[in-house]
Amino acid sequence: MTEGTTNPANCPICGKDNNCGNLADKPQGTCWCSKEIFPWEIFELVPAHALKQSCICKGCLEKFKAQNSL
Ligand SMILES: [Zn+2]
Repeated sequence: MTEGTTNPANCPICGKDNNCGNLADKPQGTCWCSKEIFPWEIFELVPAHALKQSCICKGCLEKFKAQNSL
């Protein structure tokens, strides 16, 4: 693979820990992201190889919503 590293524990946008509950040995659906709405536009910021691999972190989601008045 030549697409660089894709760590599922790191946000694909900012590279910080995404605090995904689904990786922390918790039952599916207990992550904060399960209760949030992700506008589809935000996924355009995610590199194609990281889509469905890494969760976006809450910081980036909130920043995106603030910037786009969502
Ligand atoms: Zn982030």
